[in-house]
Amino acid sequence: MTMGATTPANTAGSLKSSLGRRLLIYILLFSSCVTLILTGLQLYLDFRRDVAGIHKRLDEIERSHLPSLAASLWNMDEPLLRAQMRGILSLPGMHAVEVRETVPNVATPLRIRLETPNRDPAITRDFGIVHAGADGPREIGLLRLEASLAPLYRELIDRAMVILASQGVKTFLVSLFILLLVHRLVTRHLTALSHRLGESDAETGPIALHLDRAPAVGGGDELDHLVSSINAMRARLTQSLHDLREAHTRMEADVAARERAEAMAAHLAVHDPLTDLPNRHQLLERMRHELALASRLGTHGAVILIDLDHFKVLNDALGHGIGDHLLASAAGRLRAQARDIDLVARLGGDEFAVLLPGQWHGREEATAAALDFAERLRLLLSEPYPTQGQSRHLAASLGVALYPGDAGDSETLLKHADTALHHAKSEGRDCVRLFLPSMQTAAQVRHHLDHWLREALHDNQFSLAFQPLVDGNGRPFGAEVLLRWRHPEQGWIAPADFIPLAEESGLILGIGQWVLDAALRQAAAWENAGLSGPDFHLAVNVSPRQFHHPGFPDRVRESLTRSGVAPTRLVMEITEGVLLQHGSRAIVTMRTLKDLGVRFLIDDFGTGYSSLSYLKRLPVDGVKIDQSFVADLAHDASDAAIVDAILGVARGFDLTVVAEGVETTHQLEALRRRGCDGYQGYLFGHPVPADEFARRWLAGPADADQS
Ligand code: C2E
Ligand code: CA
Ligand code: CA
Repeated sequence: MTMGATTPANTAGSLKSSLGRRLLIYILLFSSCVTLILTGLQLYLDFRRDVAGIHKRLDEIERSHLPSLAASLWNMDEPLLRAQMRGILSLPGMHAVEVRETVPNVATPLRIRLETPNRDPAITRDFGIVHAGADGPREIGLLRLEASLAPLYRELIDRAMVILASQGVKTFLVSLFILLLVHRLVTRHLTALSHRLGESDAETGPIALHLDRAPAVGGGDELDHLVSSINAMRARLTQSLHDLREAHTRMEADVAARERAEAMAAHLAVHDPLTDLPNRHQLLERMRHELALASRLGTHGAVILIDLDHFKVLNDALGHGIGDHLLASAAGRLRAQARDIDLVARLGGDEFAVLLPGQWHGREEATAAALDFAERLRLLLSEPYPTQGQSRHLAASLGVALYPGDAGDSETLLKHADTALHHAKSEGRDCVRLFLPSMQTAAQVRHHLDHWLREALHDNQFSLAFQPLVDGNGRPFGAEVLLRWRHPEQGWIAPADFIPLAEESGLILGIGQWVLDAALRQAAAWENAGLSGPDFHLAVNVSPRQFHHPGFPDRVRESLTRSGVAPTRLVMEITEGVLLQHGSRAIVTMRTLKDLGVRFLIDDFGTGYSSLSYLKRLPVDGVKIDQSFVADLAHDASDAAIVDAILGVARGFDLTVVAEGVETTHQLEALRRRGCDGYQGYLFGHPVPADEFARRWLAGPADADQS
């Protein structure tokens, strides 16, 4: 951008502007002072010269007129004397002439004074009048001359006037010239710069300023430096402004993001992210409120707990994507069925709750309505779920608890509903159960059991029982290791009663490890005592949770190493459920252990959900036909068909088949005919402690236990 051309208007402006005016005043004042001082000095010198000139003239008058005046005075020729004095007075600048006789002893000495009328200041000089007589020169009188200073003063004043006038004009012109010069060189640029700087360039950013003049040669002067400094400063300022704006924008974005995150967090704090249903926290809050309301109004309400049956297995088998989709669909159905006043919440995993606020006046009415509603939910949840072109099926178990009758506070109420739900599950799932006070004892037992189990592991309350596995001739080739628990007060507690709980709570990890260590220790003891033959193996049950634990293969290896037992002596019994979950990881775990020499059997074979095709992918060595098929083998045609099918598949995959729960010779015969490889059951022997097992099965030749 070029600096605006200087117009007369802004010249005037700059002249009037304080800088120009001040400059003019200072220059005028200064040069006037100087002029005055110099003029005064010059006038003073002139004055001294002129006074010297007057004195010189007076000296000349003395020289030329004094002899004749002396003669006239000596002769006392007064008329002549006067004529001579008049002649002197007529000389220019003379003011007065006086002659006085100074001869002593004269009674009336002569005194003549001639003067001009004006009374100007004057210079007075006295000269002695000397008569040169025969007896030498003798002073006879005094001549006084007074020369007027007025003409001298007049001339000085004239001269001062001329000097002052000329100096004043000169000073003024020079000042004006300097002012114009300053304006041209400096102030107009400053004015233009300040105008440019005042213009807003917030949008466009600064455009470099430059001066309205030819570019300076050799680096430029102060103005060039000023302009380039301003330009640099403005560039820096603009950059800073830009940075500031960006920081501000970022900060605003941050603040907005934080606000969103906070809102989200607030929402998430009371909502489940997957289904967007209220969470447990919100449910409990609302329950507190509804319970208080119901007790004030004397009404009845209910809470329903819903658990999707076998969802975990399904979720692991189908993948979490489909699992999440199923959960969201189930949540949608629940929400659709609920009324606006009801609250549907997800408590985590596959567990949901519906709160039916107190709206019924009698307990019977509330019970009927809540059970009816729960049943509708169950039916709704069991309808097919179309997923990725397939239709999937879910079933649900539901527990119903009423308030205010069943519980005084929301936590207890939820616990009651949970107890009812557990009953629904233990009674075959896919059903609705209402909480009854009698259920509480079972729940309490379960609660105690968990506590007792922890103590059991700690206090060594577990032991092992061994049940023989025999071949077609009744000879033992191994034993299944079965866990036994004797509680100091409760007595024997069956594995079926505590294994599922241990699995749920994770205690099975510790328990399973204990079983493995103890079993291998026992195997080593028998081997060292020379009781077990080279092919004798121990079959240990491994629970899903234990199997899927990432450290499982290492723990097994360590346990084997500790005991010194060959891995080929160890067989692991796993259920189909284990293989459905995390299929590929399960295979990796199995392969790791199989590489050591450990073998795998599929326990309770035939009771699982899946097709037999997975056998193809798995490195299993054999299957155990579930005892339920064996039990009915003799008279149930379909069970016989299943056993045939299992044997057919097993042969196809070259798997060992062991039949368990063989109690009668009938069953044994039927199985033998079909070509089983091994047998286990009370027909041969019950599970017994190690020493008894060794006595019966390892010490001597195999004897069938016919008891
Ligand atoms: P399982 O693995 O199917 O074990 C066989 C069960 O059938 C044992 O019950 C055994 O006593 C019983 N049994 C054996 N022969 C017969 C028979 O002829 N007739 C009948 N009716 N039953 C027979 P137990 O010892 O009560 O074990 C029950 C379940 O507890 C086992 O079923 C197994 O799933 C689990 N279990 C036992 N010990 C362990 C263990 O150390 N770890 C794990 N994870 N589970 C174990
Ligand atoms: Ca087993
Ligand atoms: Ca079994």
